Amino acid sequence: MPNPYSTTDPQPRRTTPRESFGGTGSSFERTATRSSPDSTTTCPPYKGTTTCPYCGVGCGVVATIEDGALVDVAGDPAHPANQGRLCVKGSALHETMGERGRLSHPVVDGEAVGWEEALQCVASRLASTQREHGRESVAAYLSGQLLTEDYYVANKLFKGFLGTPHVDTNSRLCMASAVAAYKRSFGADAVPCCYEDLECAELVVLVGSNLAWNHPVIYQRLKAAKQRNPLMRIVVIDPRVTDSCEIADLYLGIAPGSDARLFNGLLAWMHAAGRVDRIYLERHTRGFEETMQAACEDDVGIEAVARDCDVDAERLETFFYWFATQLHVVTLYSQGINQSSSGTDKCQAIINCHLAGGKIGLPGAGPFSITGQPNAMGGREVGGLANQLAAHMDYHTPGAIDRVTRFWRTETLTPTLPGAPGFKATELFDAIERGEIRAVWIMATNPVVSLPEANRIKRILAACPLVIVSDCMANAEILEVADIVLPATGWSEKDGTVTNSERCISRQRGLLPPPGEARHDWWIMTQVAARLGFAEAFPYVDPFEIFDEHARLSGFENAVEGEGSESDGATWRPFDISGLAGLDRAGYDGLAPVQWPVTAAAPAGTPRLFENGRFATPDGRARLLPVRPQAVRQELTRERPLRLNTGRVRDQWHTMTRTARASRLMNHRGEPFVDIHPLDAERLGVADQQLVELTGGDGLYRGRARIAKSQRPGELFAPMHWNDAFSGQAKVNGLVAAVVDPISGQPESKQAAVSLRPLPISWEATLIVAADIAAEIAPAIESGREDCAYWARIPLAHSVRWQLGGQPDAAGRDWLAWAESHLPVPASQWSHDETRGRLRASGIDNGRLRWWLMVGPPEGLPSLRWLDDCFASEGDQLLDRETRRRILAGCASGARSDGPIVCSCHQVGQNSIIAAIRAGDTSVEALGARLACGTQCGSCQPELKALLEEETQEEMADASL
Ligand code: SF4
Repeated sequence: MPNPYSTTDPQPRRTTPRESFGGTGSSFERTATRSSPDSTTTCPPYKGTTTCPYCGVGCGVVATIEDGALVDVAGDPAHPANQGRLCVKGSALHETMGERGRLSHPVVDGEAVGWEEALQCVASRLASTQREHGRESVAAYLSGQLLTEDYYVANKLFKGFLGTPHVDTNSRLCMASAVAAYKRSFGADAVPCCYEDLECAELVVLVGSNLAWNHPVIYQRLKAAKQRNPLMRIVVIDPRVTDSCEIADLYLGIAPGSDARLFNGLLAWMHAAGRVDRIYLERHTRGFEETMQAACEDDVGIEAVARDCDVDAERLETFFYWFATQLHVVTLYSQGINQSSSGTDKCQAIINCHLAGGKIGLPGAGPFSITGQPNAMGGREVGGLANQLAAHMDYHTPGAIDRVTRFWRTETLTPTLPGAPGFKATELFDAIERGEIRAVWIMATNPVVSLPEANRIKRILAACPLVIVSDCMANAEILEVADIVLPATGWSEKDGTVTNSERCISRQRGLLPPPGEARHDWWIMTQVAARLGFAEAFPYVDPFEIFDEHARLSGFENAVEGEGSESDGATWRPFDISGLAGLDRAGYDGLAPVQWPVTAAAPAGTPRLFENGRFATPDGRARLLPVRPQAVRQELTRERPLRLNTGRVRDQWHTMTRTARASRLMNHRGEPFVDIHPLDAERLGVADQQLVELTGGDGLYRGRARIAKSQRPGELFAPMHWNDAFSGQAKVNGLVAAVVDPISGQPESKQAAVSLRPLPISWEATLIVAADIAAEIAPAIESGREDCAYWARIPLAHSVRWQLGGQPDAAGRDWLAWAESHLPVPASQWSHDETRGRLRASGIDNGRLRWWLMVGPPEGLPSLRWLDDCFASEGDQLLDRETRRRILAGCASGARSDGPIVCSCHQVGQNSIIAAIRAGDTSVEALGARLACGTQCGSCQPELKALLEEETQEEMADASL
């Protein structure tokens, strides 16, 4: 069935007048003069600068626009975060663009409507819900994908004018524990470090962070810094051996959840070794004695700590010694620490060690939480978390409710600002289930995939009386439960600011007009606000006006650093960008990346915080807080005996709605998978690449086993990206129980309890179909009516590949009859290899390949790149006799399979790399010279190095036989 939301026009759009998509004054307005909307002639290419929409590194991007389409991207050499670099996701941004698959018009109750009707409908249904069920019966669930200006308007509308505190964000899943710990210790959600600190540190500790895959450009910077300074040491602490270990001097493969025990042990070791900084502690902190006491409630002998963390005692002591004896230490942590039922305490245990050693507020020193999303920080700045109010003020910040009320001028309204925090993410959906919240507006996020107990979340939303969804993609699973769908602008169309992990505010510029009737999120909310009677408070016609108000609020009654106190009602809030207030459109457009605080005293921004030892607490001192290590809450049982770690893969982003559009990003890990230790695989009877099934939480997960020595025995890893849009049963968050940290509300997504079994199937098949007809046959395959226990859809450049597996016996299935009834072209040629039990068939229409089928396990696949290219044959490039023969033979005499792609930039596969190593290449550089792999973004270099090591070991093992 055609998607009711989507536009199907695959052609690049030409520019259209600015007025057609609401608001004024985007960068597009300036650039549009270069290309007349009605012109039939092409215009010369031009460039615009913006910021990458994926991870929290926040790389600057130079985009090339030609004839109204974004045709190329490159790293911005002038941007301080990436200095010209981009990772593989960033460098494929232009390949993810286009109208195909975008939401193009508003939909209310399944019917396409005009904007006026949609806006009126949103306003009247929100108002009637509040009238009938109270102001707290409505909620918003936001996203780190939103720009700061969108976030600001959402927070102001819901908290300030609708008077509900129930505004939370998917950033809760990403870094809420880090926020809670920073606030407890420093008095503010203030990341003390900057990226440069990683480069000038003597020791960098990566804990719970696979930087190489999740923040690749920072990883590249760190790797380059280590090459420049061989004395720099890097320690990786992680239950998995990840690609980040490529540059590690020491690896500690700790037991999942034992981080707090390890850092408590470190604190005690520093104390015993006389390595705490007494002067710093006395001058700038409180709480050391109580914290030490709590740490010493457990046996802090090195053997005991090593036993509890399940690491070698000597290696652990080496780490303790390095940490204690170096002053310039950065501990960089991410979701591996945060996504825990005791994540706040884990972050705290890290901060305690830094404060105890005085390793903070110095170049190359500090506890550095790195965010997952492009604007998680911007959301924190405006108050996008349910426990925040606005501009880094909490409900309990003295005078904050009154201050924000006066600033927003909500005092004349009934109701006015809420008086207490709202529901955090999982609580918010529980409240919907209980019927307390009856209307929710979800923007730019896919909670039916990303929240724990994802299947339950979908059922909850399906039963919610009003679900409004603003999104830009038509394949987002959340749309299935939406009553009202609002098409929003996406990257390269949106116009505003984002803040990266080092507090750097950058412009994300609108370079192209939105497709169809898509509108900016801030514009949509402003229009709804007007229809609710709040037009005066939401007068914005341009995002620079919103940014100006946000900047003014940040400085409103904000004391000068070190001068405020609770008693005078104006405490110091480090988040202060009052120095950016008053920018006009030109100033906003020209805004260069700058790190907050930006004030009259620091007009060029502030790379590093707390250099003078003063913190944002009432007495200016940082707090050490006692940490008592907690056990993982999702207990292993006889039925669910395996520990599952969930996370990202190198080439995909979140729920793949965008990255799956770039075919080269689909080839590194094309299918959902499970990494499993060889011992577990043997015990459970699982072979490499076999299909397996995990059970846990309220879900099932089916994917391909990858036997990996990088796993600890008893532990698995599965990616977070796949969902119903790309596979039958691969929503990993369905396996995660909704167990959260009691302080931060962040779920324990890294430590699910699951069982694993081989998937009972009797056949596997690969079906590849030309892209232009794939949509027609997708419903039949993906509905599960075809006895498919497993399917995974992998978009290629010219075709779509399905991997299928199921019952009954393949021998009992007449595949040619199946092809006849399901595929638009009958089989033109087929062959049956009785010996290997493989059937191959293809449909060729007028010299063009339309489909290709191989029944049998996928190991026998020919080169997918070659096969995909065969689908591009048309015009005078029709398939010749020899190519047809090779297609049927599975490329018997042509290109051989490349295997899984390792280098996505140059599409170099594992088999070619292994062949090159066997031919004598002994270094990453040699492989690059021969095959070009690893020579562009560098993201695959750790994998190249691992393959070199593996092959060398195998050679040595062969030689010793
Ligand atoms: S490192 Fe992150 S911000 Fe930079 S290009 Fe890659 S995904 Fe984008």
